[in-house]
Amino acid sequence: MSSFPTQAAGVPILVLKQGSGRSRGREALHGNITAAKVVAESVRSSLGPKGMDKMLVDSFGDVTITSDGRTILDEMDIQHPAAKMLVEVAKTQDNEAGDGTTSAVIIAGELLNKAEELIDKDIHPTIIIDGYRKAAEKALQTLEKIAIPVGLKNLDYLKSAATTSMGSKIVAEYKEYLADLAVKAMMMVADKQNSGYKADVDDVKVEKKTGESLRDTSLINGIVLDKEIVHSGMPKRIVNAKIALIDASIEIEKPEMDSKISIESPDQIEAFLNQEETMIKDMVNKIVASGANIVICQKGIDDMAQHFLSRKGIAAVRRAKKSDMEKLARATGAQIESSLTDLLASDLGFAALVEERRIGDDKMTFVEGCKNPKAVTILIRAGTERMTAEAERSLHDALCVVRDLIMEPKIVAGGGAPEMEMANVLRKFAETMPGREQLAVRVFADSLESIPITLAENAGLDPIDILSELRSRHEKGETWVGVEVHDGKVQDMSKVNIFEPLAVKKQIIKSATEAATMILKIDDVIASEKSKGPPPGAGGMGGGMGGMGGMGGMGGYPGME
Ligand code: ADP
Ligand code: MG
Repeated sequence: MSSFPTQAAGVPILVLKQGSGRSRGREALHGNITAAKVVAESVRSSLGPKGMDKMLVDSFGDVTITSDGRTILDEMDIQHPAAKMLVEVAKTQDNEAGDGTTSAVIIAGELLNKAEELIDKDIHPTIIIDGYRKAAEKALQTLEKIAIPVGLKNLDYLKSAATTSMGSKIVAEYKEYLADLAVKAMMMVADKQNSGYKADVDDVKVEKKTGESLRDTSLINGIVLDKEIVHSGMPKRIVNAKIALIDASIEIEKPEMDSKISIESPDQIEAFLNQEETMIKDMVNKIVASGANIVICQKGIDDMAQHFLSRKGIAAVRRAKKSDMEKLARATGAQIESSLTDLLASDLGFAALVEERRIGDDKMTFVEGCKNPKAVTILIRAGTERMTAEAERSLHDALCVVRDLIMEPKIVAGGGAPEMEMANVLRKFAETMPGREQLAVRVFADSLESIPITLAENAGLDPIDILSELRSRHEKGETWVGVEVHDGKVQDMSKVNIFEPLAVKKQIIKSATEAATMILKIDDVIASEKSKGPPPGAGGMGGGMGGMGGMGGMGGYPGME
């Protein structure tokens, strides 16, 4: 079926380009579902505090060790279009809620798995989609109903939620310490608005430096730059800093083209060099005139300029990141100037102290006591680079969880309790529905149960025993009963302080349903030759990880050839 020919009056008409692939109907659906299920399966074992970690090796041989759903899927370099949609689920989940990526992908995979069984029983995808949508709505209502409003006077719940989010990470040993930092940092940048609070995780800068241990991770009241003061003669500690932010190089621009000047006498050489010196001096004088005592430059600062600046007692940092420049502008009230000519005293920002400090083997510049107190940095320390990287990802989840709660202060308990409660409500809801849709709502309920089942499985517990106890206790009205994986017991999760933001749970339902229904609606896959991807074996997962062999682009797509 390679070029999708059609007969018209005996003449074949080529609608698609030679070499295009097409699969339709059930074949297309099954192909897509299979691919999506493989993706969901690949993150399953990493759910929850007892989940396993993954070691991912990219095409450059760089190793990432993580249990973070989004990171796993990102690093896997997935090719199949339907599988990619599940990767999108993880992304949406991460962008909207910041946590719950693994859960969203697992539920989406399970919704598709169960849908496939219904399709095999001749239930049309449209009916399943309708059923799923109604079930999702009911599930969301249920979540809203059972959620506990917490308010922000008492930060204990924020701390528990941040701790829970880190409980499933490699950094779990230090979860309480890190959760405390995350809560403090987010509360410092939160803004009171008329009807509540607003907070943005981007306002908390996260820097990392290898060395010491996670326990030495600290919260700094200000901005930390992973840069040193450029010249040894410059002051390393500036009290009452007046900060110039410059987005231009402080050096003589070298011409793009090769150019020649002919010099005929030693005088000319001197004049030439003098002129260069004068130009640099001019630049430095503009900085001096503005009254700045520290310059933070996004571009380069040449040796001569550094020398002149140091003679004037002005400190300088070069090649600062653009994002840091923006944060510094906000924090210190400085205006970023793209030309030295325009630099005025009124453009300068203020901080009580700018200081270069030695952190591990490197030097970093701390800008503290900024004009705008909503400038904070968390400086991650850990023994290895991989650990600092994983700590950064985990802290991201924790910060997001706190942000979610600041914006919508409502929590639910974890350990699969809300999923069980939703499933319980949905089974009753299903009985009010006509025949076939009822089946869809029921399997939606089953799919939600994949969370407590997976948590139990990953903890080496017997999922069948756990599930039946969970079901019967929820039936008796014990809303917060879930599976606590450390004790391996079914119990009230609100009593053991395992809390999660309502926003995360709601987003999991939304993202998973959206992806599953989107995939179920596709009954025709037409792929041009190019998107068939690399030859089998070249794509799929980088670094030779097993188990995903059939995912090398469209090459592994059932029924495409
Ligand atoms: P996700 O990417 O979905 O956030 P995680 O690996 O972070 O995946 O696992 C989150 C799940 O683990 C949630 O359902 C949460 O309730 C559950 N969980 C966290 N701590 C515990 C615990 N101590 N016992 C049981 N479940 C827990
Ligand atoms: Mg999580």
